[in-house]
Amino acid sequence: MSTGELFIVCSPSGAGKTTLCRRLLGRFADMRFSVSHTTRPRRPQEVDGQDYHFVDVATFEAMAGRGEFAEWAFVHGNRYGTSNAEIRRAAEEGRAILFDVDYQGAAQIRARYPSAVAIFILPPSLDELRRRLQQRGTETAESLELRYRNALREIEAYPQFDYLVVNDDVERAVETLVGIVLAERARRTRRAAAAERLLGEATISRSGSSPRAG
Ligand code: 5GP
Repeated sequence: MSTGELFIVCSPSGAGKTTLCRRLLGRFADMRFSVSHTTRPRRPQEVDGQDYHFVDVATFEAMAGRGEFAEWAFVHGNRYGTSNAEIRRAAEEGRAILFDVDYQGAAQIRARYPSAVAIFILPPSLDELRRRLQQRGTETAESLELRYRNALREIEAYPQFDYLVVNDDVERAVETLVGIVLAERARRTRRAAAAERLLGEATISRSGSSPRAG
């Protein structure tokens, strides 16, 4: 499948990734959020089809069986996956896509799309991570413990990422993410066509110029 730019944002639960992703999407109208499928129960403030496609295990398994996921993984005891349809939709709209996935999903997307840019959000400290998880109030005590324990495993995966952003200050973290997107867009490999176009124009104007002009 041909795609536009792919940006992966990953972090342990509670590092502030959802807020940062929302803020980043607010800065780039040509970027689309990849709405994942999950078997996790919907939280009260979440909207089906917008935050996630909430499905039951049988539906998820059937989709996986039909090869409809670009990647999927078990995360904190539930299934989460990115459908090929999400990636196709962004490509059809000519928009970049932003994935909010765990480190296993990030690895699978990178294996499939090596040009994907992978960004890892770090919490300023583990104490702060625990505090944010508790403050969120969306998890049961059991789920909170599981997410906290899994955080270390996720942080261990940091070497597979291109960028590490410490979320100690939201505004600064947002600006860093915006900077990453802009810098990635300016990469020579992505901008070569612009330079080639100028060279093409120069060739045409040279061949069209009078012999005296030399
Ligand atoms: P939450 O339950 O807090 O919304 O998400 C839990 C974890 O699942 C987060 O780390 C999030 O990035 C990850 N996640 C969300 N969607 C996907 C997905 O489609 N694939 C994978 N592999 N992980 C996902």
